[in-house]
Amino acid sequence: MLKQTEKRPVVLAIGGHDPIGGAGIQADIEAIGSNGCHAATVVTCLTVQDTCNVRKLIPTPVEILLEQARAVLSDCLVSAIKIGLLGNAEAAQAVADLIGDHPRIPVVFDPVLAAGGGSDLANDRLLQVIRSDLLPRCHLLTPNTHEAFRLSGQNQDFDPDRCAQTLLESGARAILLTGTHDTRDAHQVIHRLYRGGEPLWLSRWPRLEGEYHGSGCTLASAIAAALGHGCSLTDATQHGLAFTWSSLEAGFPVGHCQKIPERYLKRSQPGHSQA
Ligand code: PLP
Repeated sequence: MLKQTEKRPVVLAIGGHDPIGGAGIQADIEAIGSNGCHAATVVTCLTVQDTCNVRKLIPTPVEILLEQARAVLSDCLVSAIKIGLLGNAEAAQAVADLIGDHPRIPVVFDPVLAAGGGSDLANDRLLQVIRSDLLPRCHLLTPNTHEAFRLSGQNQDFDPDRCAQTLLESGARAILLTGTHDTRDAHQVIHRLYRGGEPLWLSRWPRLEGEYHGSGCTLASAIAAALGHGCSLTDATQHGLAFTWSSLEAGFPVGHCQKIPERYLKRSQPGHSQA
């Protein structure tokens, strides 16, 4: 349980812009703000997309991205960093180097590799940099089953434990493998938190109907905010899952395809028990 500090914790969100406002930096700002932190933001790329799919990705020049992030990090006491869509290997390398310079700041990385509508948002070079340079510097990786499968290079039937083990061996310190896309269980979603040397931690939620745009961003940002408040990894994870489930349950349509999460619900601050 955490005390509220007088100063609002600053969480640096690094990710892409989604003009629909469901995913990406806007999702981060909403989730981080609703969890009692201030979001500082560095946009890795613009996108052209709607609620159905991503059509185009326009990267920010890497030197600008780095200059912006360094300005934030030298001016503010950043309590946590959340990383989302990177878009290309150069951005991933720059972000890996940047967080390597700030090893004490907890980093939550949502490895966005594809859009909900199916567009591929990562090539092999980006995957390679993520595996070799980014994973070992992150405190928590929050892949869904597709992302875990791809990142771990598994080429047989999906086995969550084996995927997580491979990612831990790549240097990731903790992996929250989200279970939404694992539809073997029609009624519940099981999220799994793996940490080297610690027992597996499970969190079960009633399965919600439909698909949501920005659920992964919401989850990783809410966890980063809770870490920014000083929560332990398991408390922050449980808080982030509860926040996200409530946001999805109250999700609303804005376009023709996926709904977007309602992240402006009134709720308690991280570290205080959830209903
Ligand atoms: N960030 C951006 C800019 C995106 O366009 C997307 C998906 O299209 C995501 C993140 C990931 O969205 P989700 O949280 O639904 O996985």
